[in-house]
Amino acid sequence: MSFENLGLHEGLLKAVKDAGYENATDIQAQAIPAALKGEDLMGSSRTGSGKTAAFILPALQKILDNRAADAARPRGKNYGPRVLVLAPTRELAQQVAKAAQTYGRNVPGLRICTVLGGMPYPLQIRQLTGPVDIVIATPGRLMDHIQSGKCVLDNVQTLVLDEADRMLDMGFIDDIKFIADRIPAERQTVMFSATFAGHVGRLAQDLLRNPTRVDV
Ligand code: AMP
Repeated sequence: MSFENLGLHEGLLKAVKDAGYENATDIQAQAIPAALKGEDLMGSSRTGSGKTAAFILPALQKILDNRAADAARPRGKNYGPRVLVLAPTRELAQQVAKAAQTYGRNVPGLRICTVLGGMPYPLQIRQLTGPVDIVIATPGRLMDHIQSGKCVLDNVQTLVLDEADRMLDMGFIDDIKFIADRIPAERQTVMFSATFAGHVGRLAQDLLRNPTRVDV
């Protein structure tokens, strides 16, 4: 299916074209219109399906929609990000950050911050306490920053859990719940996972509201 009819802004369409994509993948064609309507999503996270663009493009669109209002907010306060992506590993988080740069290349002044375990704290703290649009994090390190008061999540509109089953296998369930509890309830939540059986299904029930299922 063509990207043109999914409801995306011109600048995002251009970035997708510049990336060399001709058509939206199945998961993108299902997920993007639903996400733009503000629906919660749950989907299978088969790699290579194009799921990253499926959640990043609508998130970027919301950032664009809020650009003027956000720029008019009083300065000097730490508002925190509009979008938070949680991923199980540094490698995956870095891939998501790279995709966000690529798809967000026409979003003026887009600020993306990665918060990864095993990396030095000072740069992360500087980025988290300055203006930031998207935070892409592994759960354990983000917890550190929340507990030390450096990461504010009051303005998050979109929470994405990428490869949720792997995060739970790694023992991040309590961290994820703690983090989600710090995000306003009227957010949009997107969850990708290889399975929704067992504890992942229960987490989805806790975090998602009337989700649209996207499967490929
Ligand atoms: P992902 O499933 O998000 O890890 O994406 C897998 C690969 O597919 C990445 O290398 C993307 O750059 C690429 N990709 C994503 N969307 C499309 C698309 N609509 N057409 C062609 N390639 C895509």
